[in-house]
Amino acid sequence: MKKVAIIGAGIGGISTAIRLAHKGFEVSVFEANSYAGGKLSSFDLNGYRFDAGPSLFTLPNLVEELFELVGKNPKEYFEYTKLPDICHYFWEDATKLTAWAENERFAKEVEDVTGEPAQKILDFLKDSAFKYEVLDGLFLQDSLHKFSTWTSAKALKGYLNLPKLGIFGTMNDANEKLFKNPKIVQLFNRYATYNGSDPYQTPATLNIIPHLEYNIGAFFPKKGMVSITNSLVKLAEDLGVQFLYESKVEEILVEKDKVSGIRYSNISEKNISKAFDVVVSNMDVTPTYRKLMPNQKHPDRLLNQPKSSSGVIFYWGIKKQFAELGLHNIFFSDDYQQEFNTMFQEKTISQDPTVYINITSKLKPDDAPEGCENWFVLINAPANEGQNWDKIIADTRQNVIQKVSRILGENIADLIECEEILDPRTIESKTSSAQGALYGNSSNNRYAAFLRHANFSSKIKNLYFVGGSVHPGGGIPLAISSAKIAAKYIEA
Ligand code: FAD
Repeated sequence: MKKVAIIGAGIGGISTAIRLAHKGFEVSVFEANSYAGGKLSSFDLNGYRFDAGPSLFTLPNLVEELFELVGKNPKEYFEYTKLPDICHYFWEDATKLTAWAENERFAKEVEDVTGEPAQKILDFLKDSAFKYEVLDGLFLQDSLHKFSTWTSAKALKGYLNLPKLGIFGTMNDANEKLFKNPKIVQLFNRYATYNGSDPYQTPATLNIIPHLEYNIGAFFPKKGMVSITNSLVKLAEDLGVQFLYESKVEEILVEKDKVSGIRYSNISEKNISKAFDVVVSNMDVTPTYRKLMPNQKHPDRLLNQPKSSSGVIFYWGIKKQFAELGLHNIFFSDDYQQEFNTMFQEKTISQDPTVYINITSKLKPDDAPEGCENWFVLINAPANEGQNWDKIIADTRQNVIQKVSRILGENIADLIECEEILDPRTIESKTSSAQGALYGNSSNNRYAAFLRHANFSSKIKNLYFVGGSVHPGGGIPLAISSAKIAAKYIEA
C-alpha cells in the first residue's frame, strides 16, 4: 500500500486525506497545531463559543460529496440549514436592507429601499449564474495546468463566451455600468472581498460569486462552522486516516527530483525522518517552498504576487440581544473606494471601515449565555508587512465601536463583557499563511485571478499542493475542490 503524508489538517488537507484513503492509500496527516481545521476551527471564551474563521457556508454539496464518495450518509455526520435571510445591510444614513434568499423578494426589497429596478437585480443574478456555469466546469473543477483541460469541450464553451465573462474590465466598472444606485454597486462590489480582492482592480469575472449565495443559497451548519471540520475528521478517521497533532513538518525530503518523505518534530522528539511515496502540502504554498524546500527551485514570480487581504477580528461576548441583527450583518463605510485604497495601497485600515458582524447564537442559542450574543466582528485588513498592528488595532477597535454604536443607537462598548482578538500576525503564526492572508495571492489582476500555483509540482515527482493558496482558490468550497483536483492526479 502506497504511503501518503499530508502536511496540515486544514479543510483542504482533510478532504484530500478522505479521497486518498478511499483510493487505497495509507494516509498520515501531520498537523502543527493541537487541533484540526486550521482557519476552520473554534474556541470557547467565558461561556461563549466562537467559530474562529469562516462564517459563511456555501456549496454544502461539496462537503456532502465526500461522504457520498465513500458510501456514507452525510446526515449521519453533518447537518445544516438554508438561510431565509442571507445578510442584513446597514448604512450610516439609516438605510437598511435585507438580502433575502428568495431572489424576487430581495429584488423587490432593493427597489423599495433604493429605487434600483428589481429587474436589474434579477438580470445581474442570471448573468452571475451564467458566468458560474461556464467557469465551474473549466476552472473550478479541473487543473488549469494540464493541456487536456484547455482542449476539452468545457474549454471550448469558455472560449466562445470569453467576452461575456468580464475578464477585461473591473468588477466595479461592470457594476457601475449596470446599477445607478451607489449602495447597490457597493453591495455587489463587496463580493470581491470573498476572495480577499479589491473590486476596483479585480476582474468582473468575480461577479460569479453572488450566484453562490443568491441562486444556490447560504447555509448554516447546525453545530457551527467547526462541525464541517469535525465531521470530516471523523469520516477520515473512520477510513483509517491517522492524524498526528503537534507534529510540525520541517522539510520535504527529495531524492533525484522525487519526494522520498518528510522530516518533522513533535513535542517529544525532534527531526524525525519518515519515508513516504507521496507528499501533499496543505500548508500555504509560499512557506512550503521557502521553509520546507529551501534548496529546490522556487516559482518566484508566483510566490511574490501580492497577497489577498487579511483581517482583524474582534470576538466579543455581548450582554444583550439585538432583534434587528441576523446571522450575517454588514455596516458599510461611506467611501468604499477610499477603504480599498487604504487597504491595498496604503496597507492599513481605513478610519471608516466596513464592519461585518456574524452572530451564530442567532441560530444556535447555546453559543452564548441567555440574553447575550456572540459577536464575531471582522474588518478587512491588509496582509502583514510588519505594520504597527497594535496601534492599527487600537484605532480600529475605537472606530468600529463608534460606527456600530451610531447605527444601532446603543453604546456597544458598555456591552462587551469578554474579548479575544485575531490579526494578520496571529493568523500567520496559527496557520502558516503567508503574511496572514486569508486567501493566498490576491486576485487583483487577471494573471493572479486565474493562474494560481498548480495542484502538483512540475519539477518534483509525487509532490502535490492543496488548500486556499493554490488552484482554484481560497474559501472553503475552493479549498475542498483543490483536494478533488489533486486526488484525481495521484495514482494509487
Ligand atoms: P488552512 O485552514 O490554512 O490550514 C492549514 C493547516 O496546515 C493549519 O492547520 C496549519 O497549522 C497546518 N500547517 C501549516 N504548516 C504546517 C507544517 N509545516 N506542519 C504541519 N502542519 C502545518 N472561507 C469561506 O468559505 N467562508 C468564509 O466566511 C470565510 N471567512 C474567513 C474568515 C477568516 C477570519 C479567515 C481566517 C478565513 C476565512 N475564510 C472563509 C477562508 C477559509 O477559512 C480558508 O480559505 C480555508 O479554510 C483554507 O483552508 P486550507 O485547507 O487552505 O487550510
